[in-house]
Amino acid sequence: METGKVPAVAAKKSSLTPKAIIHQKFGDKACYKVEEVQEDTKNRCPGLAIPPKGPCLYRCTLQLPELVVISDTFKRKKDAEQSAAEKALEKLCIHQKEYNPTVEEAWDDLSVRLSYLFATEFLSSLHPLSGHLRASLQREGHLSGCVPISVIATYDAKISTICKYIIPEADSNFLLLMSLVLKAASKLDNLVISVDEQLSLQRRNPILPEVIHALVNQPRFSESLSIEVIRIPCSVEKTVESLVLNISPNGYYVDVIAQELGMTEASKVFITRTIGKASSDMRLYYNAPECLLMDQLSEPLVNLASHDKGSLNVRASYLSGQEVYGDAILAAIGYSWKSTDLFHEDVSLRTYYRLLVNMIPSGVYKLSREAILAAELPVAFTTKSNWRGSFPRDILCTFCRVHRLSEPVFESSMDLSGSRKKLKVESVKKDTNGASIASACGKSTGSVGDFKCEIKIFSKCQELILRYSPKESYKKQTDAMQHSALKVLSWLNIFLEKPDMSLEKLSYSAEKLGIQFSHDIFLKEFVLCQSVHKFGSTRLQSSKPIDYCCINQPNNPLDDNGSSICGENSGVTPSNGSLACVSYSISLVTEEEFLKELIESNEEFEFEMGSEAVMSRLEAVVTQMSVGQSAFFKMELPPQEFILAAVGDSAATLSLLSSRRCILEYAVTLLQVTEPLEERMEQALFSPSLSKQRVEFAVQHIRESCAASLVDFGCGSGSLLDSLLDYSTSLEKIAGVDISQKGLAKAAKTLHPKLNRKLCAEVPSKEIKSVLLYKGSVTIFDSRLYGFDIGTCLEVIEHMEEEDASLFGDVVLSSFCPRILIVSTPNYEYNAILQKSTSSGQEDDPDEKNQPKFRNHDHKFEWTRAQFNHWASDLAARHNYDVEYSGVGGVADVEPGFASQIAIFRRRDSGLKNVVLEHHYESIWEWSSDNM
Ligand code: SAH
Ligand code: MG
Repeated sequence: METGKVPAVAAKKSSLTPKAIIHQKFGDKACYKVEEVQEDTKNRCPGLAIPPKGPCLYRCTLQLPELVVISDTFKRKKDAEQSAAEKALEKLCIHQKEYNPTVEEAWDDLSVRLSYLFATEFLSSLHPLSGHLRASLQREGHLSGCVPISVIATYDAKISTICKYIIPEADSNFLLLMSLVLKAASKLDNLVISVDEQLSLQRRNPILPEVIHALVNQPRFSESLSIEVIRIPCSVEKTVESLVLNISPNGYYVDVIAQELGMTEASKVFITRTIGKASSDMRLYYNAPECLLMDQLSEPLVNLASHDKGSLNVRASYLSGQEVYGDAILAAIGYSWKSTDLFHEDVSLRTYYRLLVNMIPSGVYKLSREAILAAELPVAFTTKSNWRGSFPRDILCTFCRVHRLSEPVFESSMDLSGSRKKLKVESVKKDTNGASIASACGKSTGSVGDFKCEIKIFSKCQELILRYSPKESYKKQTDAMQHSALKVLSWLNIFLEKPDMSLEKLSYSAEKLGIQFSHDIFLKEFVLCQSVHKFGSTRLQSSKPIDYCCINQPNNPLDDNGSSICGENSGVTPSNGSLACVSYSISLVTEEEFLKELIESNEEFEFEMGSEAVMSRLEAVVTQMSVGQSAFFKMELPPQEFILAAVGDSAATLSLLSSRRCILEYAVTLLQVTEPLEERMEQALFSPSLSKQRVEFAVQHIRESCAASLVDFGCGSGSLLDSLLDYSTSLEKIAGVDISQKGLAKAAKTLHPKLNRKLCAEVPSKEIKSVLLYKGSVTIFDSRLYGFDIGTCLEVIEHMEEEDASLFGDVVLSSFCPRILIVSTPNYEYNAILQKSTSSGQEDDPDEKNQPKFRNHDHKFEWTRAQFNHWASDLAARHNYDVEYSGVGGVADVEPGFASQIAIFRRRDSGLKNVVLEHHYESIWEWSSDNM
């Protein structure tokens, strides 16, 4: 297994990693090379004939100007790199200095730090705390020069680092931290004095007036500042409201906050860590707990955990992850490392509600999509390309961060057991009974290189809260990670959206998903959710639809969902797996009168159908729409938190909400539908992909027949023509026809450089001499494509109406007369297998299975083997061709046959007839090797 220890430093986030130190010293001159190393024999399974391919391990070679080091082997590339860097540091005798003082040393350091903070030089530095010191000089009377201890303990990170070494608990106990500062200050009698009863520190010798003058002469700001802040009352019964702080040019902002909190001045204002984005310096301010006495502070070892819990402000505590007592004020204001000016930002109610919404997994997703009332955390991670918004992994990291948990641990592993079970998808001819149908779906059997990702979540003090070990494995490591992360998120979401659910229910839901969790630790970490999140009983998704008559379009009847769809049916409708692009607006309307306020809108919003990526009602409505149509429907109100997190003007909304009974009105227009990727199935479930297998099938026939010319009917964007260029064949002339201008343009764009490159490479002998692309319908004859050696028509007929498919058959065999014609189309009977393996566990809806489901919404039909045989044999007979049947994907003799069924027509007579020149196609693009 792993031979090297994971570099010790990598685990410690706070200090620099070995790689970072190497980078500081050597910059670009440090060169890392990572190589894969194979497991050696000790891991072989006895009795297994094929040597197992072990999990990939990595070794890193680090080259420095005068030194080369090689790491041990690791499962992760980055661990190998860190290990190499660590070894290099050892060799170079560069030791990373770690701060690890004894208790006495820490006390000394604390005193030294405090004297530094109160030194005159510190006043002019750009340290977040120095702004407070400057501001304190402008405080009036006896407060002049007084700095609250809480401010010192909050804004100087060094202090808290040092205090951790005196008493580790000081890290999480703010009072303890303050008491240590106070005690250290008392030893600095000659320098700093503590101001009685005020929990402040002050220099013993006042700063010289001229120094003050110089500092104060630079006005910090000339006019009063008005800053919007939020008051979070202690009692959950009282509503959170916004208010404005007015700070005069020479006022101290913490004094102003203190007054809002009912105090005269700043010394008893406590401040939490930052909340939300680190850049905004948003913090909660609250009063020191009343029971706090000076003598409690002066004796640091007192048990301080015995606060009056009754005054705990649960909302504020939940947001900050710290215990907050009494009323609290949420404000984004403070001094920064960048300038001496006071930084400040308004904090609106919307900001507050967004912080709250950001604490639940679906909320993180909604925010990342800027669609709080429309988006939902999807239930399935289908493909990376269809996912919109933050990825599950990132959402999980955000979730852990806002809940002050440790970073989640992702552990990827390769599925070794799969190597024995692995059944390769065999090519068409090997249709022995050895391969089963399941083998066509590589995914269900597992194969070498399959990845699984285990996730563990720990509390801040490293207690294991939750563990998820997936059963499913995936082809790609990142997919495995995203799938696992989504599983964990969906379970966390169940709890956070309904935190009052019973423990039995919670355990049951975890069991169902394969999640193990430690009840006690989990509930301890999330104890405050219950009092804060009221989303609970009224989940947004389950908001009830309301019957509603579309006023502006009285002729549009309501559908059975009570929504009204307006506009002509364009026929282009989204199906599961496709991407729907909509514009929408959601307004708050009063029930009886027509007061309306827009609360959320999006000009272009794309989501994957069938993965519950939007509110279920919205998806249900869009399912019934076609491109260009609009729909209107009304919904009961979701929890207020969501509305206020979405809305721009909370005041207007609140007044509307409080004065009248309101509902939400949704207006949606379907702008565009992107096909569900048929190729996605083809690629994910077959190896090589189904389209590659079709190309190989064609190549085989081209070679066997020594064909010199080929026409691809319905060439689309030229995937067949393009792939053919990668093989050596007898072809000299190739042509493609399609009705889609867009497809043809794309084809020309990819073929052109490839052909030129091939030409330059001077590949000898038979090479393609000309390529033609035509625009037109394959149901119409064009004499320029008459009598080609081989014609292909892959996965095209099902895109036409059945009459046109028949017409195409007649036209191609009677007029184009290729020597050989290859036609492929989906085998409808195979769909059951495709659907089973693509929707693994995500739908057990029995109704779904009874509906005919095509692989692609543009398909007009999909035939069973009998239907296809009937069409082809009838056609062959009428036009003097022989026909035989084959296919790709799956096996001929095993039910339900091939995934793509193929008919090969061969002309019986060899002579060609005279043709009348008929040019019905538009020539789009021509390439000839002569002109190059
Ligand atoms: N043969 C390609 C494309 C298949 S998609 C491949 O295997 O990748 C089906 C294609 O048929 C589309 O490009 C569509 O534009 C084309 N098509 C549908 N009806 C057609 C018609 N009547 N004439 C020509 N092309 C048609
Ligand atoms: Mg098709």
